[in-house]
Amino acid sequence: MAVNDRRRTDTGVLLEQASRIQTLNEISRVVSSTLNLRTLYDTIYEQVGRVMDTTQFFIALHRPERNAIDIAYQQEGGVVYVDQEVEFGTGMTTVVIEHGMSVLFRTEDEFDEFLQTHGLPAPLVGDRDSASGIFVPLNTGNRTIGAMTVQSERQCAYTEDDVQTLAVIASQAAVAIENARLYQRSQESVAQMEALLRAAQSILGTLDLRNVLDSILTGMREVMPYYFAAVLLPDHSKGHLDIAGTVGPLDPTQRETMRIPFGEGVTGTVFCSGEVLLCDDVRECEEYIDHGIREVLCEVAVPLKRGDTVVGVLDVERDSVGAFSQADLDLLTLCASQAAIAIENARLFTEQQRRVFELQSIQSIVQKLTPLHDVPAIAAVINCELKQLIDYHSCRLFLLDRQHDVLVPILLEGSTQPELRVKLGMGVAGWIAQFGRSVIVTDSLNDPRGTQIPGTPVRAESIMGAPLIYEGRVQGVITLSKLGVHQFDQNALRLLEIIAAQTAIALDRSRLYDELRPEAVTDELTKLYNRRYLLERFKEERSRALRNGHSLVAMMLDIDRFKTVNDTYGHDAGDVVLRELALIVRAVVRAEDIVARYGGEEFCVLLPEISADNAERVADRLRLMIARHAMPASAGVDGISVSIGLATLQSDDGGMELFSRADLAMYKVKHAGGDRVCVVSEDAFRFTEGGRDLVLSDEQHLA
Ligand code: GH3
Ligand code: MG
Ligand code: MG
Repeated sequence: MAVNDRRRTDTGVLLEQASRIQTLNEISRVVSSTLNLRTLYDTIYEQVGRVMDTTQFFIALHRPERNAIDIAYQQEGGVVYVDQEVEFGTGMTTVVIEHGMSVLFRTEDEFDEFLQTHGLPAPLVGDRDSASGIFVPLNTGNRTIGAMTVQSERQCAYTEDDVQTLAVIASQAAVAIENARLYQRSQESVAQMEALLRAAQSILGTLDLRNVLDSILTGMREVMPYYFAAVLLPDHSKGHLDIAGTVGPLDPTQRETMRIPFGEGVTGTVFCSGEVLLCDDVRECEEYIDHGIREVLCEVAVPLKRGDTVVGVLDVERDSVGAFSQADLDLLTLCASQAAIAIENARLFTEQQRRVFELQSIQSIVQKLTPLHDVPAIAAVINCELKQLIDYHSCRLFLLDRQHDVLVPILLEGSTQPELRVKLGMGVAGWIAQFGRSVIVTDSLNDPRGTQIPGTPVRAESIMGAPLIYEGRVQGVITLSKLGVHQFDQNALRLLEIIAAQTAIALDRSRLYDELRPEAVTDELTKLYNRRYLLERFKEERSRALRNGHSLVAMMLDIDRFKTVNDTYGHDAGDVVLRELALIVRAVVRAEDIVARYGGEEFCVLLPEISADNAERVADRLRLMIARHAMPASAGVDGISVSIGLATLQSDDGGMELFSRADLAMYKVKHAGGDRVCVVSEDAFRFTEGGRDLVLSDEQHLA
């Protein structure tokens, strides 16, 4: 792990870089389109093998739930081993995962030394003795999910450049592995749905309650003649009995419109009491309601029960007084139990039908979500599919911004409110995000969480919501609301929870997809890294440098009097200059240096593992090349110069102090007229030019 200060020609660097970029592009293309894990591992192995020695190679995945490391894929001597598990916390891989750091060892001695410093036992994986190797973490932006290693029996088989290359391959691979894992998970739920659906469909025939009840009554007539018979079923919301099955002189309109209030008439009384009621002569029966059917003289009503609950009433009427014997009543009880079973079956059937429908909808949601990558499209599918399942008037989908503890809306359907951000803990959505639990609020006006949004009409709503949980963390919230109280039940909530889980998976996939996009880390104009990426990498490089005792230099570079370029030659000419400058910087610095556009006409280069002298030389060479560079004719610009500030990371530097010091040094140059390099060390500023130090005048110091 020696300091890398090899000198190379510019062409050498560029050529090497080109071939490396080609390999990386190829890997990115292949892995991002592979969703089968085994194929993915094979591909990664194959691609790495093209650029370095892979005598031994493995991909290890951290399994925190089992406190283990899953060696998901290992290639050694042409043999593939899969899914070997080792304990977490015992080896080199653990160190790499825990610290998210890359390690290069060129010789066995370096390896042993590393093991000793970290108090680690000898390696557990692989049969051959390795003489050199590289370990890199598998990072997916904000998580280290595992590690990858290449090892060789040769000493010094790898260079620092190989570490960089492998690290980049590893971050592509990490995202692809996560993606494939998520894909497998959603495929598993599709398979589950299909199995459930097949089971549900197979137990169903066509079953219509009215037909079943009619045929029970017809069968009864053959053994016990009657004038009129009916089965009545309760409508609990309206408090009356409807006629479900009937045989006799009742026309279809009567069948549809006849209603018996609970507790009234012979049948209504039986429904409430649960006891058989026999009227030998209806003219003398106080419960009897005359429907104008003069032939009816005698009536008996029998309750239909499921357990202790009355689920309906069987009613039989005859055209002579005292026409029911005990034997008739026994027979009726038998028919009543048949009818009760039919009613129960029909209820189950309806429930099954609803379940099949729900399963179909969930299956369709999963299938529609799987290929989607962008958040608005995911939100639209969720809203559209939820509508088929649950009756609501407004649907809201939020993502949790953990940095600011607010819920950011990504879908506000059926709502006239402005795009409100919701603070953690506020309102129903905020409560769900804070506690990570789903909830039904039956009446928004009588619940402390049902906060009224100023300017909206005061009205009672039912609200239901579920957290979007992925990897045990709340990523967002989905809520539905409907006018009126008590509009949602546990079944609706259960459905919402299932869909919330699928939504969370889909949204996480889209996040990973975003991270994989090169556009996300690239400045559009110059094609250099953007500031966001630079700061991300800085965090990594900073801790790596401090941990390993390497140096890290930041170079700030600002174009002198750039505004006049824009003012004199136009903005387009300014853009050409910026692009041209980006090319020069990229070509002068080493491949492993991170070059970013820091601001408008300000660039920043991070140079890891470089000596102070070399950093100064690079900066000065860069300054000179820019000053001497002839800009393309299209720019119309004669030439430009830059001010460069250099600072080296100190062990007690706070988060962004390195950049501030480099910036200060750069401003020293500005005030001295530009076109120079200023180095800050131990809070003293020093100009350097062509390797010679320049003495600052008092005036320049003051500036
Ligand atoms: P100094 O020598 O002090 O650095 O002066 P300056 O004019 O270079 O610096 P100043 O910060 O005053 O102006 C920077 C200018 O850079 C202003 C802005 O219009 C221009 N600029 C920023 N981004 C772009 C861009 O993307 N394209 C172009 N053409 N100009 C840009
Ligand atoms: Mg400037
Ligand atoms: Mg500037």
